[in-house]
Amino acid sequence: MRCQLEILSGELDLRALLVKWQRVLRLQDWDVSARIASQQEVGVGANASCNVNRALHHATIRIVSERDFGVPEFPEWRTYDPEVLLVHELLHIPADAFAPGPVDKLRAELYEQFIETLAHTLIELSRGPSYRDMLVARSQEVGFGNGKAHNEAAQGVTEERVR
Ligand SMILES: [Zn+2]
Repeated sequence: MRCQLEILSGELDLRALLVKWQRVLRLQDWDVSARIASQQEVGVGANASCNVNRALHHATIRIVSERDFGVPEFPEWRTYDPEVLLVHELLHIPADAFAPGPVDKLRAELYEQFIETLAHTLIELSRGPSYRDMLVARSQEVGFGNGKAHNEAAQGVTEERVR
């Protein structure tokens, strides 16, 4: 497994997180690079990005810096949590073969929701149930409309826990 990282954010140990989650997600045979990047590098309207090259088994992940964090359309994303962003982007690697095209907007949205829910579920399994409680509290803070994505993510996590 190869990991290439630039750590630009003081206490953030992105290398350790990448090693951990590549192992959990069985992506050790992928050459993954991840780094903190500017909003311009990540792209307009996104907090992170992942470019996947399936032929070369190479992926490049960019996570927006804390300074640039926050997407106007999703005010419920208040807390900068690079581990969640990293896990979400890593999930795009095995899911890339099933990614809908840009024209199919409904499938693209459902695909993103699935990846986001799975990322939150994995983070909860790693950090414990208090993570889900925090998600639920945060979505209630922002109200149903704006907190819809998180409510759905939290609901998915809750349902997963009771099974
Ligand atoms: Zn995504």
